[in-house]
Amino acid sequence: MLVDTLRSFFQKPVTRLYPFERNASPERLRGKLHWNPDNCTGCCLCAKDCPSDAIEVITIDKKAKKFVMRYHADRCTYCAQCVQNCRFSCISMASGEWELASTSTEPFTVYYGNEADLEPLLGKAPPPAVDMP
Ligand code: SF4
Ligand code: SF4
Repeated sequence: MLVDTLRSFFQKPVTRLYPFERNASPERLRGKLHWNPDNCTGCCLCAKDCPSDAIEVITIDKKAKKFVMRYHADRCTYCAQCVQNCRFSCISMASGEWELASTSTEPFTVYYGNEADLEPLLGKAPPPAVDMP
């Protein structure tokens, strides 16, 4: 052990100076969830199948196929079940977004959707009813 300790003084460190030095994250890493409303049918399969109750699909206008999503990143287990189950490829997980720690809870509730559809949820008008899974 003494030999190893002495040898280590003359070797380059094997650890990285994170966060100053970063490696690219693996392509398939399951990072923060993203949602694209363009093809969403509001079927709520993603919300029903989520084991962590981390997704809410909120109907703005069913006929016009307007929906928004409320995602609770602090409940998500990053299992990717929602990604696999959405038949319209609306959900993805960003491999580069995995540093999600925060000192407040605010960033863990994320709203996705078109800006006009999100207005009622963000306090500018009464919020619509939530579709329960
Ligand atoms: S499963 Fe896909 S299409 Fe259905 S509500 Fe979720 S995101 Fe929309
Ligand atoms: S990745 Fe898993 S836990 Fe996270 S929202 Fe999707 S189904 Fe739920």
